[in-house]
Amino acid sequence: MFTAQDHGTGPMDTVTIRFLGTGDAFGSGGRLQTCIFVNTAETRFLIDCGTSSLIGMKRYGVDPSSIDVILLSHLHGDHFGGIPFIIRESQILAQRTAPLIIAGPAGLKIRIEEAMGVYFPGSSNIATGFPLEFIELPDNQDLSIDSLHVTAYPAIHTPATNPHSLRIRCNSRVIAYSGDTRWNDNLIEASSMADLFICEAFEYDKAMDNHIDYRTLMQNRWNLSCKRIVLTHMNDSVLRRKDSLELECAEDGMIITL
Ligand SMILES: [Zn+2]
Repeated sequence: MFTAQDHGTGPMDTVTIRFLGTGDAFGSGGRLQTCIFVNTAETRFLIDCGTSSLIGMKRYGVDPSSIDVILLSHLHGDHFGGIPFIIRESQILAQRTAPLIIAGPAGLKIRIEEAMGVYFPGSSNIATGFPLEFIELPDNQDLSIDSLHVTAYPAIHTPATNPHSLRIRCNSRVIAYSGDTRWNDNLIEASSMADLFICEAFEYDKAMDNHIDYRTLMQNRWNLSCKRIVLTHMNDSVLRRKDSLELECAEDGMIITL
């Protein structure tokens, strides 16, 4: 169980990652959509927030009101569609007062407000009751957000989602995240010397225009200097082989401590 009381426990620079959702947009393997919770001594944050994220948070004991920052890689529903549910829960059930920062690609504020209006008509005009800040991440620049340092690298995915890969430095640890993207050399820089690279592998060996397949990732494996790679966002072609892959696969609920 992760609660706000976890602040300050253990070594101050320990970073704990809990995968709340490791699935794709299509429910492959019965997994929840992308949502990765990271707990540091100073900042509790989510990396992506798919539509099922609130379910994942409650399933794995993460208090939604304790989240300080949500980082978004791109604006597909299985990566940001959980935000309207979190905001509504905050307004109606939790009566949150603590501030929340949502940072992601250009255009995130209007897209989230549009989603609020579709899911909960009329709700986008309702005051949240807590400070809510939207930050657009510039390309290739280190930006300080709360205690985090975040760099967004342009990715190759559905252009209308404004796709990016993320490099996040928290305390002395670096977490890289591919988001959804075709293989590209920005991933090498984004994950350079990272303690953990969370990389999508949507397909096993079928090359796609907007996703990474496992075979292509393995062909580029030795260009990557990260210490550990964990696969996520896998469809059935990868999931049915996951026990024989050379790389580790994330599971819903899995915990990694850095
Ligand atoms: Zn996507």
